[in-house]
Amino acid sequence: MSYVIVLDPGHGGDQDGGMIGAYIEKNMTLTVARAMKEYLDSFEGVTVYLTRDSDQPMTIQQRLDFAKSVNADYFISLHFNMSGYHTLYGSEIWIPVQQSYYNKMYPFADLVMKNFDEMGLFNRGIKTRIGKTGDNYYGVLRIGTNYGIPSCIIEHCHMDNSRDTFMLPASSSSSLDSALINFGIKDGEALAKFLKLKSAKLGLDYSSYKLSTYKTGKNMVMPDETAPETNEISLISTDAAAGKVTINIHAVDKDSYILYYMVSTDGGVTFTSLQDWPRTSWNKSMTDHAITLDAPAGKELNIITGVVNSFDKITLSNVLNVKALSLTVNNQTTGDNNSENIIVKSMSETAVESDRFNTVSYENILNETVNTSSVYAEGILTFAGCAVLLLVGMLFTGKKILKKLHGK
Ligand SMILES: [Zn+2]
Repeated sequence: MSYVIVLDPGHGGDQDGGMIGAYIEKNMTLTVARAMKEYLDSFEGVTVYLTRDSDQPMTIQQRLDFAKSVNADYFISLHFNMSGYHTLYGSEIWIPVQQSYYNKMYPFADLVMKNFDEMGLFNRGIKTRIGKTGDNYYGVLRIGTNYGIPSCIIEHCHMDNSRDTFMLPASSSSSLDSALINFGIKDGEALAKFLKLKSAKLGLDYSSYKLSTYKTGKNMVMPDETAPETNEISLISTDAAAGKVTINIHAVDKDSYILYYMVSTDGGVTFTSLQDWPRTSWNKSMTDHAITLDAPAGKELNIITGVVNSFDKITLSNVLNVKALSLTVNNQTTGDNNSENIIVKSMSETAVESDRFNTVSYENILNETVNTSSVYAEGILTFAGCAVLLLVGMLFTGKKILKKLHGK
């Protein structure tokens, strides 16, 4: 058995991809791809091609046409991520929605994600996404599937969030390069295990490597289109002497799982940055999480939380009012009307200054993963267009706030 693999360094030429500080995505993806190819070239039974080996632009169609022309068995597109307001963090892998293709890519994606977990990166999941036509949203996966080539998109991590950039040290170009080469080798190792390859040169034999499987029994492995169903907060205890309030967040997403949460103590005007929501496994979240907040003397708290699922859809909680002096509790079990009022308030008071205090305004969190150029998207969306687009559908969907733009 001999495999043909096409590695696709995302972007190129005038398609920079994400760019921030020392990070230029099109260059980073090329370094990862070259390292991955070099590593895999040490194995028998595999031929590896790159869609581009220079700084040149390519359409998605050209990338897949190339893969088809060399009879690729798998197509792997390499990327780094950014979000519009720099709030999101973590690694994610997009695979085809059609189950037969999903099942073919899943064991590889699982191996790649395990490496990211070991590196200390946050797991945003192995996911599918559909476009308006009901097919794969990302062109790479849509055309790949049409050509009969199982494909995936690896979003290694976010270039614009310090929770991830520890893996991309950029004090010098050589420090960044060696980090990227490390990503390429790890991705290559995952592929070698996935294909059960052997390398006499490296003294490695993965021929009996045991792969994980994932079977859903459905024709399409659909993404979660709805925000978490439940986000309820309640008081556990107050400690007036210490100036602390402990609350429980009860959050459920029956279609997927919770990734992040954030907290406001000023009724939703400002929120903390996103925090890890506890999970028992990468795709199974806990239903309850207790947190302790500062309650300075003389300050009334209006606590409200947001929980975000793996598709970046957010649900706000009820408001928990904690009176200042006595710290007596008045739990407003609010209906949607009241929540909407809070949303409207926070939307009108865009807390620009709050960034200085390491909080994000409520509005900021509504934005979603941006990344990539219009050429990847189903529609025509520019990078800047993505960044400023906020979906205000929340006003009529009650507590559910939607967004999401991404292109590949
Ligand atoms: Zn990209």
